[in-house]
Amino acid sequence: MHHRSLAAPFLPSLQRPTLACLSWLMVAALCLAWPRPAQARSTPAEKSEPKVEKSDKQSSDKSATPAREAGKEEGAAENLGVLRQRLAERLATKAEPAPPTPKPESRGDSKAEPRNARRAEPKGHGGELHWAYEGEGGPEHWGELKPEYRLCASGKRQSPIDIRDGIRVELEKIQFDYQPSGFAVLDNGHTIQVNIAPGNSLQVMGRRYELLQFHFHRPSEERINGRQFDMVAHLVHKDADGRLAVVAVLLERGRDQPLVQTVWNNLPLEKGEPLPAPGQMDLNQLLPEDRAYYTYMGSLTTPPCSEGVLWMVMRQPVQLSANQLNIFGRLYPMNARPVQPGSGRLIKESQ
Ligand SMILES: [Zn+2]
Repeated sequence: MHHRSLAAPFLPSLQRPTLACLSWLMVAALCLAWPRPAQARSTPAEKSEPKVEKSDKQSSDKSATPAREAGKEEGAAENLGVLRQRLAERLATKAEPAPPTPKPESRGDSKAEPRNARRAEPKGHGGELHWAYEGEGGPEHWGELKPEYRLCASGKRQSPIDIRDGIRVELEKIQFDYQPSGFAVLDNGHTIQVNIAPGNSLQVMGRRYELLQFHFHRPSEERINGRQFDMVAHLVHKDADGRLAVVAVLLERGRDQPLVQTVWNNLPLEKGEPLPAPGQMDLNQLLPEDRAYYTYMGSLTTPPCSEGVLWMVMRQPVQLSANQLNIFGRLYPMNARPVQPGSGRLIKESQ
């Protein structure tokens, strides 16, 4: 009893300087902490933090409570050295979560691309939604975006499809009449498209179709027995009556593809403006050696999803290099419409 009554007035006098020290340390901590976050974000707290310190931290983790709480605890039990160390640790742990590791990654890699693509897509001049490959303007909404796009939702002969169960018959050879031609490369916001000068055409089933343009999708839109390819090139042709015929050339990882390289070499820096390229290209370079193909009636794979399109999908894929694949991936990591119901359509295949 006696001891306590003696000790009672004695304790506060002990605590007062300790508390004063604590509050001074808190102020110091604040002063240190304020300018710190901005710096800490760029200064690598993890790198500069020696491993020894980390193991120290672990050993004192149990008591590593904020300085404020530490002040509430039995102040007498602490010495200044420990407090200082704790403060240093608090500051270090404050700084630690600051450098978010995913950020530098997402800056450089393909994750940054879809964000750009999304930014480009959402609203048109009239505030209407632009079609895209994901989000609100994505394929499942194409049919609702504009009345002209209705077929995207209601059509029964849509593309792409999973090509399977075709009938093997003696299919007429496609007569390609391609020649070296002038061209312009366009980034239309959905793909890279190459507009080709007149003078290229193909003949099939008694009709002559003029090549207008070709463009790419990644991955391939069409599947063969469920298999999707790395990319596909769509060569879009039109006959005198306005009927469309599209030749699809499946692209898979392998050797360099010279014609694809020519296109990549001439990529425009800006979207929406076809960039006339110097020189010419010969589309024969893009066709596979084996001219066997699958054919069926389908649609455009982008809005307005018009039907009545004659599809000819070359059976033998053509190779392009991983680097060429990646270059397109930087611009359009995913621009393939999902497969549509076959709805009992007839598919024919070369024998
Ligand atoms: Zn296409």
